[in-house]
Amino acid sequence: MKTMMRDILLALPKTDIHCHLDGSVRPATVLELARRLKVKLPADTVEGLLPFVTVAPTCRSLKEFLDVFELIYPLLRDPVSVERIAYELVEDCAKENIRHVEARFAPVLQETSKFSSDQVVEAALKGLRKGFKDFGTTSSVIVCLIRSHGPKENRRAFETLKRMFRPQSRLEEPAVVALDLAGDEARYPTRDYASFYEEAKRLGIWTTCHAGETKGTENLRTALDLCVQRIGHGIHLMEDQKLVAEVVRRKIPVEIGISSNVRTKSVPDLKSHPALDFHKAGVPITLNTDDRGIIGIDLTHEYEEALALGFTLEELAKLAVDSTDHLFLPADQRARLRRRFESEARAALQKENA
Ligand SMILES: [Zn+2]
Repeated sequence: MKTMMRDILLALPKTDIHCHLDGSVRPATVLELARRLKVKLPADTVEGLLPFVTVAPTCRSLKEFLDVFELIYPLLRDPVSVERIAYELVEDCAKENIRHVEARFAPVLQETSKFSSDQVVEAALKGLRKGFKDFGTTSSVIVCLIRSHGPKENRRAFETLKRMFRPQSRLEEPAVVALDLAGDEARYPTRDYASFYEEAKRLGIWTTCHAGETKGTENLRTALDLCVQRIGHGIHLMEDQKLVAEVVRRKIPVEIGISSNVRTKSVPDLKSHPALDFHKAGVPITLNTDDRGIIGIDLTHEYEEALALGFTLEELAKLAVDSTDHLFLPADQRARLRRRFESEARAALQKENA
């Protein structure tokens, strides 16, 4: 019975709009990249490496979660590595019928004196483009600023975003489309990065922001004041009903990552996750992986977790279809994907009745 449900969820056409490229690396690839770059790792088998490249259920905080990336980054400061992980992300997405993925990353975490921030993005686009040709899943790129970085580094990333920003006129050609702010939210408030969001707004660059993932609603308030089009996580939203009403009125989707929130202790456990409360309150939500590699999940698993929270299969199919409305794409391209999703979702649901 359980397998059958997974089959239906697997067959649903899906999007992943909150997906960190650097958090999506396969453990086996970490090992191979290290061998190629002659970087020493704490283990030389996939099994031995798993505790170092995946976040354990005993992880206590977002900070501890982010520490896992320290081992991965030295391997990603290289064009071949970046192209490869982007390509493999598309392959992994296609395997579970994710039709469009918005991959996000912070180019300044990967740049070196020989590998500029622009080149990091170019390498990712190359991998995504190749991935589309081989596996058919389309994609785009969201550039992240990092809270713990100084204004100079974030400015560098933002200039890359400005130079490479293209509102994607053809789904088939991956492009840089949006701005995000990631990192330790508890220590670095969103208002310190307001000027980037104001500039993005002036330039017509789409924006999302990690907000309300850790305690309090102040960062959510700021994100809304900065006119973000989407919110990353937003777990603490329900603590302020005025904010809920505003998000509903402005139809701002929350990018949910259920397993990620459980793992970073944004919520104490699965059953405390507010995704269903958001949905019942009329907040648009989307289901996403966040960091499929280091959490050790896929998106289909996230749909299974949503079922466990009390969503019905029909509600999940509708969420998947509606997720196309929230993509950072021109309206005609979103509509194109939506039509495709509607017919594919109908076909997937028929499996249940067969
Ligand atoms: Zn995230």
